[in-house]
Amino acid sequence: MNKQQVRKQIFAGNWKMYTTKREAVELAIGIASGMNIIDREVVLFPPSVYATCVVDACEGTPVKVGLQNMFYEKEGAYTGELSPRMLKDVGAGYVLVGHSERRHIFGETDELIHKKVISAIAFDIIPVLCVGELLEERELGKSESTVESQLIKAFAEIGEQGARKAVIAYEPVWAIGTGKVATPEIAESMHTFIRNTLKKLYNDSVAMTIPVLYGGSVKPDNIAGLYAMPNIDGVLVGGASLTVQSFLDIINVTL
Ligand code: PEP
Repeated sequence: MNKQQVRKQIFAGNWKMYTTKREAVELAIGIASGMNIIDREVVLFPPSVYATCVVDACEGTPVKVGLQNMFYEKEGAYTGELSPRMLKDVGAGYVLVGHSERRHIFGETDELIHKKVISAIAFDIIPVLCVGELLEERELGKSESTVESQLIKAFAEIGEQGARKAVIAYEPVWAIGTGKVATPEIAESMHTFIRNTLKKLYNDSVAMTIPVLYGGSVKPDNIAGLYAMPNIDGVLVGGASLTVQSFLDIINVTL
């Protein structure tokens, strides 16, 4: 069986802190009307303030919407935060958890990320758990141990049923927003390592079911090589998801 038959294939765009309301809506409409492949899920992560507009723009299309972050409590006195209940309420079915910019700029810890994963699963929101090593860690030969530790901490106490709802994005920090993409071979080897770690934490079936996306300077000219790899189940794209044509060139890639 090929990967499309075994796992959901996901092409996601992380718009970070970019776009105006009008640009966000135009981007969503352009992407929804230009995608021509049905064997994959397309998910947009707009700035949260535009979530409702983007959900409305995608209504009646297969495009899904997620948010870039959330807090783990259902509600409460947490000024500036968004709760899982709010995400559900506006129609966001996915959430990014542990993106490297959250880990490294905003100091999110593995413990906080773990609580967010638990909360997303409890609220039936798909967490896209981002993991990946820094350049120093790669140079010291610690890529696998870093990612293993991030996975073990994020999935602690989460049972098999919960884990099956998660998606993982392998995003080497040195490749995010830098133009330095991992080679398909490096990415594939880390994805295989992630799948083997899931096998140890759970079992073969869980490891084969969870989609593992690659993220880090994915562009129209490198997507084909990456997506040809058997353990790369799609991509999480930052910069190149901000223009309709470049994102369409990525999501419409053929195998
Ligand atoms: C990201 O934001 O997750 C990302 C991978 O960004 P870029 O594609 O710009 O490297």
